[in-house]
Amino acid sequence: MTVSFKLLGTGAGPGVPVFYCGCVACQEALDKPQYARTRSGAVIKAGQETILIDASPDLRDQLIRERIESIDCVFLTHWHYDHFGGLGELEYYVRLKRHEALSLYLPPEAVDSFRQAFPFLTDVFELRPWCFGQTYNFSGLKLTPLPASHSVETAGIYLQNKKSLAYFTDTADLPIATMEKILASDYLVCDATFYGENWFPHSHMSIKEAVVLGQKVKAQSIILTHLAMHYSLPVTVAQLEQELSPYANVSLAFDGMVLNI
Ligand SMILES: [Zn+2]
Ligand SMILES: [Zn+2]
Ligand SMILES: [Zn+2]
Repeated sequence: MTVSFKLLGTGAGPGVPVFYCGCVACQEALDKPQYARTRSGAVIKAGQETILIDASPDLRDQLIRERIESIDCVFLTHWHYDHFGGLGELEYYVRLKRHEALSLYLPPEAVDSFRQAFPFLTDVFELRPWCFGQTYNFSGLKLTPLPASHSVETAGIYLQNKKSLAYFTDTADLPIATMEKILASDYLVCDATFYGENWFPHSHMSIKEAVVLGQKVKAQSIILTHLAMHYSLPVTVAQLEQELSPYANVSLAFDGMVLNI
C-alpha cells in the first residue's frame, strides 16, 4: 500500500503574504500565488483512511483547494492557534455529512484548552489524548508521536510504511531520544521558521539550523517547512533556492507538495 503525505500549508503563524507587510517575500507571493504559504498542516491518505495533521486557520481553503471530501480523524501536534484555529471549520462536516463524532488526537495537556476554546464542539469531536512513543496504526501505516522541543507540549509525527517520514512542524533542535528514533529517515520535513537571526531558539529553527539537524539525523531528503519568509530578514523563494542549491538533498516545502511513502 502506498501512503501519500501532502502538505496543506507550509507557512509560519502569519502566513505569506500578510496584509500588513510589503516585504519582498510578501510581494513575491502576491505576484506569484504558487509561492503563497497558508498556515502549516498536512493530510495523509493511507488506504481508505484520510488523516488530517493539524487544523490550521486556513483549513477551509486548504480542503477545497485539494478537493478533500472526507476526513476520518484529526491529529494535532500542539495547541497553538496556527495549528488548531481551523477546528471549527469541521463542525458542519460532522453535523451535516458525517453524523458521527470525529476522533481528535491531541496533546494530553491541551484537553482543558480545547474545552475552553470550543465548548460548542464537544459533541463534534471525540477527544483521544495521544501518548508520546505510542504507535497508532492506520490501514497499516504506523504513526508515532515523538517529543519535539517547542514552547508547549508538542509532538513531531513519525510515519513508517515502505518509507519513513518525520514531520516536525514546530521544533527547536530535537531531543536526543527523538533523534535516535528518526535516524536515517527517508524524509525529514522540518521547522525552518527563520532566515537570519532565530528570535526563538528554544522553540523554532532557522533554515541553517534545520539543514544541520537534517544532516545530523542522516535524513535522505530534508524538506524545510513552517517558513515565515519575513523573520528576521525578508527573503524570496528565488533567493532561498539559489542559496540552497549546493545542498542536493535539501528543498523548500510548498503548499500542495506530496511525498509518497
Ligand atoms: Zn506553528
Ligand atoms: Zn512580508
Ligand atoms: Zn507552535
